[in-house]
Parts: sequence; structure tokens; C-alpha cells
Amino acid sequence: MTCLQQTLKRSIKAAGIGLHTGARVTMRMRPAPADSGIRFVRTDLDPVALIPASAEYVIDTALATTVGNGSGSVSTIEHLMAALVGMGVDNLIIDIDGPEIPAMDGSAYPFVSLIKEAGFYIQGAPRRYIEILDPITVRSGDKYITISPCSDFNVLAEIAFDHPSIARQKFDSLVTPNIFERHISRARTFGFLKEIERLKENGLALGGTIDNAIVLDEVSVLNQGGLRFSDEFVRHKVLDLIGDISLLGMPVLGRVCSFKGGHAIHNLLNREILNRPYAWRKVELDTDWRMMPSFSPKMEDVSAGTSL
Ligand SMILES: [Zn+2]
Repeated sequence: MTCLQQTLKRSIKAAGIGLHTGARVTMRMRPAPADSGIRFVRTDLDPVALIPASAEYVIDTALATTVGNGSGSVSTIEHLMAALVGMGVDNLIIDIDGPEIPAMDGSAYPFVSLIKEAGFYIQGAPRRYIEILDPITVRSGDKYITISPCSDFNVLAEIAFDHPSIARQKFDSLVTPNIFERHISRARTFGFLKEIERLKENGLALGGTIDNAIVLDEVSVLNQGGLRFSDEFVRHKVLDLIGDISLLGMPVLGRVCSFKGGHAIHNLLNREILNRPYAWRKVELDTDWRMMPSFSPKMEDVSAGTSL
């Protein structure tokens, strides 16, 4: 049985404030036809702006990933995109009445809960995957990402921060909906108090609070509840990577190795993949490796870190 595309069974709503704009927004995610992909509609603009969640429409990667089409844009899409592709949603329309996806708790988990609440609708069209045939590497300063051939999708990410609460962290895991939900989706975005103050002075991070991000001073984590995972920082980098790579428009079969990844280099990788069509091909799969029992979530699948 061929793997088929999925949309949601019914519409779901989310509301909240944007991390950077501080704008209060409401969005409605509604089922969409097969082969239509994931698209945003800025319903507050006249005429409304239709913006595909696609690498070609990325217009900014400075602090978050922003897609735009003409005068309409939607920013900080990466956590929502990670939730959608991580859980296996191929087609969806997202109506939004403001410029930025709500920050929720700074992770993808609130979106995962909403997706599960709505349920999946299996569509009559085969899902196509991007199968990587030749390794592709992108670099920017001391950062790099390589994607190489692999029969599933797995990620090795490493980060290095000159901060005692983060330091060097590594996370290496297969990515399936179960593993995504349990080990990746709850990891929150993070920021440094000094940096957040500087951003706020410049009109950014206006919606950023201790309720939607891990905030660090010079020596420690300021959030009262502490961390959700001992290596929550690198897990969030994996979450961002899953969200950003989803802008290729199809799930990927490949192994991603990322060192000091971020939105800019993730999007550089997307562009490099699209620029090298001979390095990959579109395939359909007979069995969904992501749903096979051998890929049920076990801590052994996750080689680094522990759940707290
Ligand atoms: Zn993020």
C-alpha cells in the first residue's frame, strides 16, 4: 500500500502573541486538497495574501524564518511547520490575521496537541519524498550542514555556546511522528537576557517572555520550572531544522548532520538542494518507514540526553 498524503480531519484554531512583533494573532488551520501543500493566507490584508510555505518564498531568516508574497508575509513559521511535517501533515491552509505565528510556549508541542485533536484525513494521492542521492554540504563561517543519502530521515545536530548551561550539546535521532512528539516537539526556543533587552530596544522580541522561551542570564536558566530536557537547547535546534527543511515541500529521505545550525544556514541548505536537482529525486514509498513498529519510540533511539 502506497504511502498517502494527509490533511487534518477538521479545522482547528490557535491564538496568541508573536514572539518578535508582540502582535496578537488568531489562526485557523483547515483541511486542504491533495497536492496543494501547506499555504498561509493573511486574512487581515485586502486583498488577502496567499503565501506558500515553500523555500522559494523565504524572504528573511534573521531571527526566525519568514515567508512572503508581494506585500504579505508571515514570520516565525518554523515551530508550526515542524509540528505539521513532524506529525505527517502534507496539505493545509492556515488563515492568519496578523504578521507572525503565535509563539505559544516557545515549542511545537501546543501545535502537536491541536493536530492530534483534529485528527488526520488520509487523501487519495501518493505522498512524494525527496530522496537524497548525493551528499550536499553548505557552510557559513564555522557553521555547516551536510545532507547525505539514507533510507529514512534522521538528524545529528551539535551546538557549542560559551555558556555554562548550554556548552556543547549533541542530539542524534531518527525522526518519526512518535519520536518527534515525545523527544523533540516540547523543546523550547531560548534567548539570553542581555540579547533580549537589546532586541527589545530595537523593536524585536517584543512578545518574548519567560512563558514562551527559555531565558538565560550570564550563568543560569531563569525559568522557575527549569528545563524540559537536560539538552533542551540542541533539541530545539533539531526542531527548527525540521521546520525549516519542511519548506522543500516534501518529506526528505536523508541524514542531516548539522554543526551550529540556524535559520539562515537551514535555508541555504534548502536553496542548495533545489539548485542541484541531479543530487536528489522524487520517490513514492510502499511502506511508511516512520510508522513501522521497529521505529516506535524508545529512549534507545535517542542517543543523547535524558528527559527530565
Ligand atoms: Zn525555534
